[in-house]
Amino acid sequence: MARYTGAVCRLCRREGQKLFLKGDRCYTDKCSIERRGYAPGMHGNARTRKMSEYGMQMREKQKAKRYYGVLESQFRDYFEMANTKAGMTGENLLAILETRLDNVVYRLGFAMSRAEARQLVRHGHFTVNGKKVNIPSYLVKSGDVIELKSSSRSLDKFKGSLEANASRVVPKWLEKDQNNVAKVIAEPAREDIDLPIEEHLIVELYSK
Ligand code: SF4
Repeated sequence: MARYTGAVCRLCRREGQKLFLKGDRCYTDKCSIERRGYAPGMHGNARTRKMSEYGMQMREKQKAKRYYGVLESQFRDYFEMANTKAGMTGENLLAILETRLDNVVYRLGFAMSRAEARQLVRHGHFTVNGKKVNIPSYLVKSGDVIELKSSSRSLDKFKGSLEANASRVVPKWLEKDQNNVAKVIAEPAREDIDLPIEEHLIVELYSK
C-alpha cells in the first residue's frame, strides 16, 4: 500500500498547524512549527495572501488526508463510501477515517503517532476478533474486539507507549479494559472526533 515518504514536518508547516505526526517530538520545542512556523519553500516566509474558496477547500482536504496518513485515491474512495451512506457525507467521511485500524491503535494509546500505529499493525501485532489483522486500512465496526497479539503483550515497546499515553482519553465509541482489550461499542460520532477539520469544505470540493 502506497504511503507518503517525504519530510513529515513539512506537511504541518504547509498546513500552518501541528498535525502531530511524529509522536513525542511534537510536544517539544524541537517541533518545526515552533521553530519555523511558516510554509516550506522559497516563498514560505513571505506575507500570506488571502486564500481563495477553492484554496481553503483544498487545504482542508489535504489536512484531513495528512492527519490520517491517507493518499488521494484512497481518500476519494472513502468519500464515495461516505456519500452512499445515510446522513451527512462529511461526518460519514470522518467516521470512516476514524475506524481505520491504525487510527484505532493510536487512539487506544498503543502508539505515539498514527504513522507508528500503521507500522505496528503492518508488523502483525494486533488481532481483531481473535484473528491477526495486518492491514492498517482495515475498518473496524461495532462489536469488534481489538487486542495485542499474545506474543506482543510483554514487549517493552507497548508497555512504554501505554504508560506514556495513559492520560490520552479513549474516545467514547471505544472501550478499553484494564488488560488493554478494546471493543468498538458504537460508530464514531462527530463530537467524538477531536480534530480541527471543517469537513463541509471537503464535501464542497468534491461536489464541484
Ligand atoms: Fe508536525 Fe510533529 Fe513535526 Fe511538529 S514535530 S511539525 S507537530 S510532525
